[in-house]
Amino acid sequence: MKEFLTNNIIQTQKLAAEIAKHVYPGLVITLNGDLGSGKTAFTQGFAKQLGVKSRVKSPTFNIMNAYQGDQLSIYHFDAYRLEETGAQDQGFEDYVGTDGVTIIEWPQYMLDLLPNDRLSISFFRGEPDDFRRICLKGHGKASEIEELL
Ligand code: ADP
Ligand code: MG
Repeated sequence: MKEFLTNNIIQTQKLAAEIAKHVYPGLVITLNGDLGSGKTAFTQGFAKQLGVKSRVKSPTFNIMNAYQGDQLSIYHFDAYRLEETGAQDQGFEDYVGTDGVTIIEWPQYMLDLLPNDRLSISFFRGEPDDFRRICLKGHGKASEIEELL
């Protein structure tokens, strides 16, 4: 496990950009944390580093947004709304862990679709208001990324 402390959104997005330098096709990243903890902010910094030009916004209403980076597609999930319906039979397995990089907010609502090999990131708020503790754990092949940070 590695831990990072950030004091503003820019620092969180810089950390995301650093992680994005080490991605590979098929990587799955899960983002745990309460509402407002910085998951989407992180994804914005991550996608920008991968060459995404369009604005990354939370896909709460459509569950998944796909973006094209310079080398890779980015599949950005927000599974919050799957709490009631579940993730099965919606075609998401065509994206998760396939050719692109998958990044998932609220992964606890699509556990059935998560591969064992993944980079798990957790966000915690604290004091002062802009402080965040960000914990990162690589499982399987993704542990290589944890070691590089
Ligand atoms: P989530 O996707 O986890 O619900 P968002 O990324 O949408 O959260 O929102 C995070 C909010 O917290 C943003 O308004 C952002 O500006 C603010 N913020 C303040 N400090 C930080 C920080 N250190 N890292 C990330 N976001 C921060
Ligand atoms: Mg969000």
